[in-house]
Amino acid sequence: MKPLILVHGGAGAMRSMDGERAAAYRAGLVEAARVGRELLAAGGSALDAVVVATRVMEASGAFNAGVGSCLDAEGRYSLDAALMDGRERRAGALGAVTATAHPIDAARALLDEGRHVLLVGPGADRWIAGLELPPLPEPPADKLAHYEELLAKQAARQRALDLADMTSVGRPDDEEAPDLGHDTVGAVALDAEGGLAAAVSTGGLWLKAPGRVGDSALVGAGLFACETLGAAAVSTGIGERMIRDLTCHRACQLSQELGAQEGAEGCVAELDQRFGPDSGGVIVVDAQGLAGASFNTQGMGRALARVGEEEIPVAVWPEDDFPL
Ligand code: ASP
Repeated sequence: MKPLILVHGGAGAMRSMDGERAAAYRAGLVEAARVGRELLAAGGSALDAVVVATRVMEASGAFNAGVGSCLDAEGRYSLDAALMDGRERRAGALGAVTATAHPIDAARALLDEGRHVLLVGPGADRWIAGLELPPLPEPPADKLAHYEELLAKQAARQRALDLADMTSVGRPDDEEAPDLGHDTVGAVALDAEGGLAAAVSTGGLWLKAPGRVGDSALVGAGLFACETLGAAAVSTGIGERMIRDLTCHRACQLSQELGAQEGAEGCVAELDQRFGPDSGGVIVVDAQGLAGASFNTQGMGRALARVGEEEIPVAVWPEDDFPL
């Protein structure tokens, strides 16, 4: 059994991605998987590997996480992130925070502290301030311009953009539908000792209500890692669906029954049946060293790195070659 790390860069339409942005997105996925694998190859834990991989994507700017995060309805950042260790189901999660560009490091500190699992809002920001993590810079001009554009689209529709709009993300027949989300990042890994871990970080959804917390901060919905079930999973997509679906807990259960790929597929099939197309995707690794990835959106960026292998396959579209 070779240690491995599987990362994703979000599931969605990706249709707004131009050439330069798409290249940065792919490069970020490969780099995240590479640094995670390097750590695993040196005997590091799955928990450390998913944190370093997530940190790379938070710093990239090409993803909806860290400095690349989207803005809420008031034009402000509000980030969610979480981390889970399969060994003892230890977890650390932050919801609706603004105090750092690396909420995954805050999640790690919370997990290590062991007192609470989830902190949100201003209280969480005050706690993060004591960690001396890098702050989140002000949103750049192009992001603020995109925010104004989305506000104008919302005004043209004469109503708040809502779940129906999120559903239409990815519909090729609705070119007017705004891209409200995707590009959240996540990582799952298995280490040489059999340890499993999952990490996730996101800016959430464009124009979300201030105070909204998505699946990415919630154990069982946006992430799950469990030695007993022998799997770790991370999801991406419309958080309001993943929360009600307990997507990642289900992905781990199905992976135990069916194997990682069939488990990921089964979980997304249930999500699709329950909530319809364009809901999202999930990645899984299991204790046997198998990996799985599935989504019901147009695309989902993903990259896989196994210790002892040179290549790091990277894919975005369903038809891309992605040996698991
Ligand atoms: N799941 C995230 C959320 O709803 C968004 C995403 O995966 O892109 O906050």
